[in-house]
Amino acid sequence: MKVTIFGSGYVGLVTGACLAEVGNDVVCVDIDAGKIERLNRGEVPIYEPGLDAITKRNMAAGRLQFTTDVELGVSHGLFQFIAVGTPPDEDGSADLQYVLAVARSIGERMREYRIVVNKSTVPVGTADKVHRVVSEVLARRGMVIEFDVVSNPEFLKEGAAIEDFMKPDRIVVGTDNPRTTELLRALYAPFNRSHDRMVCMDIRSAELTKYAANAMLATKISFMNELANLAERLGADIEKVRVGIGSDPRIGYHFIYPGCGYGGSCFPKDVKALERTARDAGYPAELLQAVEAVNDRQKEKLFEKISAYFQGDLAGKTIAVWGLAFKPNTDDMREAPSRTLMEALWRSGAKVRAFDPVAQEEAHRIYGERADLILCDSPESALQGADALAVVTEWNVFRSPDFDEIRQTLTRPAVFDGRNIYDPAYMKAQGFDYFAIGRGSV
Ligand code: NAD
Repeated sequence: MKVTIFGSGYVGLVTGACLAEVGNDVVCVDIDAGKIERLNRGEVPIYEPGLDAITKRNMAAGRLQFTTDVELGVSHGLFQFIAVGTPPDEDGSADLQYVLAVARSIGERMREYRIVVNKSTVPVGTADKVHRVVSEVLARRGMVIEFDVVSNPEFLKEGAAIEDFMKPDRIVVGTDNPRTTELLRALYAPFNRSHDRMVCMDIRSAELTKYAANAMLATKISFMNELANLAERLGADIEKVRVGIGSDPRIGYHFIYPGCGYGGSCFPKDVKALERTARDAGYPAELLQAVEAVNDRQKEKLFEKISAYFQGDLAGKTIAVWGLAFKPNTDDMREAPSRTLMEALWRSGAKVRAFDPVAQEEAHRIYGERADLILCDSPESALQGADALAVVTEWNVFRSPDFDEIRQTLTRPAVFDGRNIYDPAYMKAQGFDYFAIGRGSV
């Protein structure tokens, strides 16, 4: 099948590469000429396990093209996927300018039936807006051409995006046209083999499903962080509590890890946008407000602990930071807790020596050259001359380090573990001043 994808970011690239991998003819369009140039040179501009190989393989096979040519994109695909960003606007609502710009582009160039498939995370009612924009542009051109707008939210996780796309838990399709449902069923058939994972519904419910999923996941994290803070005060260990509650199948073990807060491009913005949608609908979503407030507070936790340890005097100190990405297996630093920590340390006059297996380039892009950020080429070199260590992202490489080396290299034997990856009793026995999240009994 012929597919066009607008937006070659995390979602667009993965969608394009995976649809090409099963034999479709895919054209990816992006307005970022630099990005398209890099892709055409065979350079994948983001880190996502497996994406590099699958992209190159399908480019070489002629099934995956990258272009800035909107005309080519609109004339190519029966399916016109929208996978552009929907960043938060100043008031917290999702900024739809990129989505609607694509809708206009499609309307301006369309010559025959097209299915506009929205993969971006967008507020309820956006499909109607996209429909309106395309219709208005067609009317201005004096054209009457049939088209459908479908909501097909994406649930992939950065760091496991290829696997998630290839073997999805569910494929949500919101449409009011049964014929379109069948065409999407055919497009997704290769990813829908062992049992039917397609969940078909009306468009508004599909749009809300994406926000519901992210808000639920963010709620689980904030709930655990709230209890972690309480556990610290009560002398309980949140990790014991986690196992104790996870064993109840109604709760489960997934996604109940306490830590130094959630980040990334999705949870923070989607919780905000849903809360804004609720407010606009005349419903104050108090739970969502609390989820966000708890997370904002949690992102300050590591800094508070470090500052307390050094009695508020961080000027001239150096802190080693392990992990910059908002989670392991990605280079994405959007809203990452590492940023909150580093920026607070800098405000207090401290220096940071940081290491991340893949996000160093992104950190350099965000912060540029600055005297108080030294990007190091190994976890060990980040420790050189540092007064304490903060672990912010739970990359595997940090899980079993040489603790003797850490203790001998740091000027103070202080480890601040924002992801609870070390055993407090062991750390204490090794002579560390060890601080974790919500482990008050230790
Ligand atoms: P991204 O910022 O990585 O990529 C967006 C791309 O769209 C950029 O390359 C940008 O240049 C391009 N773009 C902007 N306007 C364009 C236009 N008019 N035509 C063509 N390209 C254009 O974003 P992302 O992380 O891939 O997210 C895209 C959407 O998917 C968002 O709504 C996001 O909430 C949602 N989503 C993201 C994830 C995730 O894990 N990143 C998961 C599920 C859903």
